[in-house]
Amino acid sequence: MSTRATAKKTMNRIELLDKGVSILTDAGFEEAKTDAMLLMEYICGADRNELFLHGDVEVTGEMEEAFLRAVEKRLTHIPVQHITGVQNFMGLDFKVSDKVLCPRQDTEILVEEVMRIGLDSMDILDMCTGSGCIILSLLRFSHACRGVGVDISEEALEIARANAEALGLDAEFVRSDLFANLKEGQFDIIVSNPPYIRTEVIDTLMPEVRDHEPHIALDGDEDGLVFYRRICQEGYDRLRAGGMIFFEIGYDQADDVRKIMEKSGFDHIEIVKDYGGNDRVAYGVKN
Ligand code: GLN
Repeated sequence: MSTRATAKKTMNRIELLDKGVSILTDAGFEEAKTDAMLLMEYICGADRNELFLHGDVEVTGEMEEAFLRAVEKRLTHIPVQHITGVQNFMGLDFKVSDKVLCPRQDTEILVEEVMRIGLDSMDILDMCTGSGCIILSLLRFSHACRGVGVDISEEALEIARANAEALGLDAEFVRSDLFANLKEGQFDIIVSNPPYIRTEVIDTLMPEVRDHEPHIALDGDEDGLVFYRRICQEGYDRLRAGGMIFFEIGYDQADDVRKIMEKSGFDHIEIVKDYGGNDRVAYGVKN
């Protein structure tokens, strides 16, 4: 048989992308287009502008196979970020794995609220840092601040350190159960996106989250509030006078978290909504 007869017709980038979109759409994936695009960017090593601008470039057989393998993984509800290994947050690329919570767009509101106070030469503590996306974004977009990120998971801290290095940022990462191993010293800001899902709700989360993200980063115990209590109680003395505490909260936790903050002595408590209109951030001041 001649090679001509057996040679498979090669596809260009747009055709391959479209194939991925229709496979995922047929399987009922709501974000089929975004998912396929992220996988395509990853496989081709090109961003979406480049992909569209040169959409007629033919892909190699290897690229096609790699892309279709990635789409197949996605079909089993592995999060796209676990396939590509990265998640963009605040315009920065963060390395992720199944050992850290994937940075969420909603959490950008938390970072933006902290940034609004004007960060200059401050000591910032990120409690439950995970991938490090919060503290590293804050360091990247502020002036002369010092940052400490704490997590109980050494595997998470390895990712956070790799992210700091990749972004050329200097943060200290400490393994500790909240404040237990954290050396003496006070901060101007404590920021935290702690685990806040009620234990009984975890089984009802989408498979991408339930089956692939670390439960240790999600589970806020029976009432979802245990970390707010502990961080407020233990964190109060770790803040300088006039220092501020910022939390990400669940959409239905504003009242509870406000009470917890008041009980620990915080003042001027404010709740901020995300772009979806849900309560998302709570912050307060130590007078
Ligand atoms: N917002 C996350 C989710 O929806 C939960 C984050 C957390 O527990 N800190 O899965």
